[in-house]
Amino acid sequence: MNTLETFNEIAMTLENPYLDDWKKKGGSVVGYACIAFPREIAEAGNVLPFRLRGAGNADTSTADSYLSRYNCSVCRSCLELILKNKYEFLDGYIRVRGCDHWMGTFDEILHAKKPEFMHYFKVPHLVNKDTLSFFESEMRKLKEVLEKQFKVEIGEDDVVEQIKLQDKINKTLKKFYRKRFSSKPELNGSDAIAVIVSKDSLPSAVFYSLLLEAMKEKRDIDYRARVLLSGCPMDEIQLIREMERVGALIVSETTCFGAGSFWNMTEYDGGDAYEFLARKYLENLRVCARMFGEYEFRKNFVKRMAEEARVDGVILQHNKFCDLFGIENAKLRMDLEKEGIPVLVLEKEYASMADLGRIKTRIQAFIERLGK
Ligand code: SF4
Ligand code: SF4
Repeated sequence: MNTLETFNEIAMTLENPYLDDWKKKGGSVVGYACIAFPREIAEAGNVLPFRLRGAGNADTSTADSYLSRYNCSVCRSCLELILKNKYEFLDGYIRVRGCDHWMGTFDEILHAKKPEFMHYFKVPHLVNKDTLSFFESEMRKLKEVLEKQFKVEIGEDDVVEQIKLQDKINKTLKKFYRKRFSSKPELNGSDAIAVIVSKDSLPSAVFYSLLLEAMKEKRDIDYRARVLLSGCPMDEIQLIREMERVGALIVSETTCFGAGSFWNMTEYDGGDAYEFLARKYLENLRVCARMFGEYEFRKNFVKRMAEEARVDGVILQHNKFCDLFGIENAKLRMDLEKEGIPVLVLEKEYASMADLGRIKTRIQAFIERLGK
């Protein structure tokens, strides 16, 4: 099996051999859901952060009796897996203040599973001097809470070492992403998303060495149109493969299970590690529609990415009942089309293969509209 296949396998399941190995050696694992979480602090204390995801699960029958049908299907899918004990490898949760749907999901996890450890990590909705200072204090609090819960010491030097490792990862990821930007792409979008999903399911040192291996691999790619994927977090590898099978090659994404998770992160410039992390994570979070007053940032990110990845069109997708991206996508569509960028807005349910026929037909029609 080559490394790209390894990444695809990791992304389509929850547990993986590296995680099992970590647990066998006595390592702790915490679950979190949003990219605002600073993994450097946890990893500096040998606590592995694992990003919660639905792993392609479309059955939400148990979760539906806890959350309402008006909650987005990503959250219901994750909750279903938690209720069905698929996340038993976790030693606790970090309740990162992402969107309201996730907050409701964490309420239900608390209620139904009564986990031994759940820490509320607060995340501001604005980026300014005051919120950065508040977020820095949340970072320091997180360090103390992890130290106490897992009986570890988190030294500032260890945090800086982790920050430098993440910088190396982000630089390499950008090179990896650019393998799709040329007129002869060497990667599928599903491979790239599998890599990003794996990044948040593995110890960072393991991920980095696998990524260096994957840099040497390439695929023969056949496609009709180059497409940028934007909107909701999308880790549905199976669905992305199907989109690519009809000819829409995903050459980049601005989503938070894609390039949006790292593309705009600043590099370490020395100085206080916690002050830096607050800046790095809050500024990067502007890619998400949960952040107030940052629409222009997101629009420009989509435009910059569309230009650099030389796309023919943009797919703005959102899950049903995702108010954040549902509203944003409507405005973004009008603004991008005014600037001559063709857009397809796609509403869907998380991982629902029952929707596949409709989605494929809409994508085929979009490719034809692009004249490809
Ligand atoms: S969509 Fe926004 S709130 Fe949700 S996980 Fe991504 S960054 Fe966090
Ligand atoms: S899809 Fe929308 S509602 Fe669902 S978790 Fe993401 S941001 Fe929240």
